[in-house]
Amino acid sequence: MNAEPLKARTRVAVIGAGPAGLMLSHLLSLSGIDSVVIDLRERADIETTLRAGILEQGTVDLMTGTGVGARLLTEGQRHEGIAIRSRGESRRIDFTALTGRAVHLYPQHEVLKDLIAARLAAGGDLRFGVSEVSVHDVTTDAPSVRFTDADGTRVELSCAVVAGCDGSQGVSRTAVPEDARTDYFHAYPHGWFGILTEAPPSSDELVYAHSERGFALISSRSPSVQRMYFQCDPAEDAGSWSDERIWAELRARVNGNGFELEEGPIIQRGVIPMRSYVIDPMRHGRLFLAGDAAHTVPPTGAKGLNLAVSDVAVLCQALERFFHQGSTELLDSYGRTASDRVWRAQHFSWWMTSMLHADADADAFGRRRQLGEIDQLTESVAGSTYLAEAYTGWPIAHTNPDSVVADTITGSADRTP
Ligand SMILES: Cc1cc2nc3c(=O)[nH]c(=O)nc-3n(C[C@H](O)[C@H](O)[C@H](O)COP(=O)(O)OP(=O)(O)OC[C@H]3O[C@@H](n4cnc5c(N)ncnc54)[C@H](O)[C@@H]3O)c2cc1C
Repeated sequence: MNAEPLKARTRVAVIGAGPAGLMLSHLLSLSGIDSVVIDLRERADIETTLRAGILEQGTVDLMTGTGVGARLLTEGQRHEGIAIRSRGESRRIDFTALTGRAVHLYPQHEVLKDLIAARLAAGGDLRFGVSEVSVHDVTTDAPSVRFTDADGTRVELSCAVVAGCDGSQGVSRTAVPEDARTDYFHAYPHGWFGILTEAPPSSDELVYAHSERGFALISSRSPSVQRMYFQCDPAEDAGSWSDERIWAELRARVNGNGFELEEGPIIQRGVIPMRSYVIDPMRHGRLFLAGDAAHTVPPTGAKGLNLAVSDVAVLCQALERFFHQGSTELLDSYGRTASDRVWRAQHFSWWMTSMLHADADADAFGRRRQLGEIDQLTESVAGSTYLAEAYTGWPIAHTNPDSVVADTITGSADRTP
């Protein structure tokens, strides 16, 4: 016979210790609202998995303004622009000259290390390596999350609110019944073949390269480890490519006119599919979805991590209003407020993808039109400013003047030239 689960209680049960879940728990703790964060993965795995790397201005402001930005400022790199490369020539989009804003290159797993350290230092309750997670009674005012702790103890965690921050494969999204939601989905005919290589940086800033062979992105993760991607078939088998074939493909798409990639041993490779997805609404009863649990963007616009952070900044303000003032007003408008930014990011990510990727079905007209678009964008102040504004990120919605995040959000919103 199964033993009774151990009963536990918190105000916010957070499912997922990615950027969304950890940042939410961090912000709530600053406002005196307790939470428990659970994750299927072990802490070591979370702290070493390389994913995104570009932090928008608003994400940087939120981290530094809430005490988790010290390493980001010393070890991250401020990037004030990117290069768009086409027909072998680079043209720079100068974010800071155009918008007064910038981004930081600081890997996602370093953000997670900083958030985990801050939560543990503040006595936060983080449970790694849990299993058998399920969500219950979210349409009542007494929901719960059940899971098996890493030591095998079955736990029933009662709460007032469940934050579904468990990414695109988690249980939160599927806890919203199909007849209570609309799924917006778009699959792209391309994937990204990504590598990590032990080499010095090829460029001080990210290079987005358009070529007849397809798109390539030259990015970085540290002074000695570089991240590079090239457009491929989503069904491509990364394991079947030799290192020399990978470098030949990257060289053919990027090198020329004095620009040469710095090459080194390839230490990781893989293919990621490119998808756009949004669930509507981002809430079901007392279950609130944030980050990849609610939406997916193709990585071209570097928006996934930043959307996760902006979602929870909005959710935190709503939860503060709810717990401190007893009003559900901001919880009721959470989905509308967050999805306004989500759809801007969806458009930007789709637009960057369609502008820079080779479309196998495009005719000669389509290929030439794409070059006209890149020229118009890179040579026009208005076009470049649109890209710079979107890439560095729109202001995070400021809904609650009493919130712990109000000052950092206002600061980021006010940073106009
Ligand atoms: C392989 C990969 C590469 C990426 N590369 C880039 C990139 O180069 N550039 C870019 O801009 N973006 C990239 N992204 C996107 C970016 O990393 C995500 O948008 C970002 O991580 C979203 O944060 P999140 O907190 O919403 O979700 P996640 O980071 O996915 O975190 C969700 C957490 O929930 C946990 N979880 C899942 N299911 C459960 C469950 N049932 N119970 C408890 N916990 C659960 C997971 O273990 C995970 O730790 C990449 C994503 C992936 C998956």
